[in-house]
Amino acid sequence: MTIIDITRKILHEGPICDHCLGRQFAKLSTGLSNDQRGAALKLVSSMHAGAEKDEELKELLAKNAIIPHFNEGIKCWVCNDLFLDIDDWVKKSIEALSDYEFSNFLVGTKVTGLLAENEEILWAESGTTFAEPLKTELNREVGKRIEKITGKKAYLKKPQVVVLLELENNTVEVQVNSLYIYGRYRKLIRGIPQTRWPCRECGGQGCERCDNTGKMYPESVDELIKPHLLEAAQCDDTAFHGAGREDIDALMLGDGRPFVVEAKRPHKRSIDLSALEEQINMGAEGKIEVLGLKFVESETVEKLKSMKVDKVYRMKIIHNTTEEKLKSSLNVLCQTPIKQSTPTRVLHRRADLERIRKVHSADLESYDETTAFLVINCEGGLYVKELVSGDDGRTIPSVASLIESEAKVIELEVIKVG
Ligand SMILES: [Zn+2]
Ligand SMILES: [Zn+2]
Repeated sequence: MTIIDITRKILHEGPICDHCLGRQFAKLSTGLSNDQRGAALKLVSSMHAGAEKDEELKELLAKNAIIPHFNEGIKCWVCNDLFLDIDDWVKKSIEALSDYEFSNFLVGTKVTGLLAENEEILWAESGTTFAEPLKTELNREVGKRIEKITGKKAYLKKPQVVVLLELENNTVEVQVNSLYIYGRYRKLIRGIPQTRWPCRECGGQGCERCDNTGKMYPESVDELIKPHLLEAAQCDDTAFHGAGREDIDALMLGDGRPFVVEAKRPHKRSIDLSALEEQINMGAEGKIEVLGLKFVESETVEKLKSMKVDKVYRMKIIHNTTEEKLKSSLNVLCQTPIKQSTPTRVLHRRADLERIRKVHSADLESYDETTAFLVINCEGGLYVKELVSGDDGRTIPSVASLIESEAKVIELEVIKVG
């Protein structure tokens, strides 16, 4: 079937605009817009009809090859003259976007059932070999104009904002993708959880026990960061993603624990991160400290969550054994795979699993008859409190099992992550 034949078939279906006609041949030539392509097809068809004295084609062209603005009262049956409104959609989009800072964007279209059906009817007749969908053209045409007016780039892979043209109700919706900031935090005092911990009594509603705060602890690392980011990014909310977490009563020292904080629906993206860092640290009054803030992509969150890294802990323990016995037990720990069942203290929220973890090094830093300081370098995911206490035989071996008497961690610091 020649191109003229296909054009004739399409014109048989009813009045059609240049955009919709040209779009059926979109894959046949590049460097043209669909309406240019459609106008060219109409011209060539009419020359063909003249040369071949093809009266039927002549008549079809006169009746159905509509030219918007000239064929008054006749609308394109495929798009219902949607493409006459492009500038309107552009205007609406730019207005909706004006609230947000962005350097790249994407246009999407939610077509109506009616338009989708029209297109299917047309494709059943003319075939889809060379065609592109209506929304692809609308997205591109609106996108090109937004690029021209705003100087921002359309970006398919990872747009910061997506303008969604809702044809059904003639409105525009802006989807704003999150902004991600990576950093490391140090926790300098005990008793602060990483994220908000809902009150056990009321589940967050607020009660007498929690002084109507709805939480177990007045502050968390997350909450010490949140208000500063809310203000800097002018976002609706934030989410905190940590690379693991330390116990509430453990310090996080050294160069800190990696985290990513996510600003949801940010109005601002060009944030001065060193100023933000300073504000967070001033506000935290020595309780926590963040460092090395930098912008990252969303994938970093996944990487952070699945990151299995070594940790170094410093801990104070109580015991009643000799220095020699304690030293030799630490030596055994470094040479034996540690078999560990989920600790009793977290069993209520974690599955009961058995895992094998390694202790890379275990050193005795100082000793007296009842207490000692240990520095333990181990694989991530090892519960070190249980490595000392043995957790009633759920961790084997342990300091307690090796010295054959009780041992317990009373102070814990993380001095290195990764
Ligand atoms: Zn049309
Ligand atoms: Zn409560």
